Amino acid sequence: MSERRDRAAWFEGGDAKCDDIPSPKGRPYRLVLLGPPGVGKGTQAELLCKSLGTCHLSTGDVFRAAQCQTDHSPALQAALEAMRRGELVSDGLVVSMVSERSGCLSCRGGFLLDGFPRTAAQAVALDELLEQQDVGLDAVLSYELPLGEIVDRLSGRRTCSKCKAVFHVTARPPQKEGVCDLCGGQLIQREDDRPESIRVRMRAYEESTKPLADYYQQSGRQVPIRAEGTPETILERSLDALQTLAVSPKV
Ligand code: AMP
Repeated sequence: MSERRDRAAWFEGGDAKCDDIPSPKGRPYRLVLLGPPGVGKGTQAELLCKSLGTCHLSTGDVFRAAQCQTDHSPALQAALEAMRRGELVSDGLVVSMVSERSGCLSCRGGFLLDGFPRTAAQAVALDELLEQQDVGLDAVLSYELPLGEIVDRLSGRRTCSKCKAVFHVTARPPQKEGVCDLCGGQLIQREDDRPESIRVRMRAYEESTKPLADYYQQSGRQVPIRAEGTPETILERSLDALQTLAVSPKV
């Protein structure tokens, strides 16, 4: 994860430019990652980005970064409050936030979207943005895991308060307890990884996100990935699935 990028264009939007444009190791991949909270999407996103040389675009990261700023528009303020309650932010606000950053979708390094889209309406909006940018999705990697294991994973997750890297108290412990291996920042339990919020998030997932999987399945772009095992094993499965796609493209 030494290859973490500044992602200025994604975090700041508007005319912001990244210092470090990704140069893919091979063809640029354009991917969406799907799966319920706690399935390990964030970890896979980091490992995949390192492996493919692409950029990690997480809508949750943008909202968490906004939480650290003080000057919020009323719409953003409402979004952050929804996030703190463990609810989904409205489709309208998330889509306008992504569309302000739609240049990232045609970045020469490709992209890996994590946490967006989360509803069928967001997926339709993403397809429109991709069409405007004249690029297509290579695949929607859908991570699948039984519920009991999801709860274990979520309650043990710790996130770096500075660089947002993700660790786990047992599955991926930092070298020094409470301290980020990458930047030395403090590791925290995100507010929305607390038990009350987890329950609300799982309900939101059931209600809102399943139709999204159906949307991608119907269009033949969804690639299921078994999310049991170590992060490295799951990464291997993901890369194998991408290799298979490269041989026989589905899109
Ligand atoms: P994540 O890091 O992807 O789990 O996102 C953290 C929180 O940010 C979510 O629980 C939502 O409140 C909000 N959020 C991030 N992305 C979206 C999205 N695509 N749609 C709605 N809410 C989102």
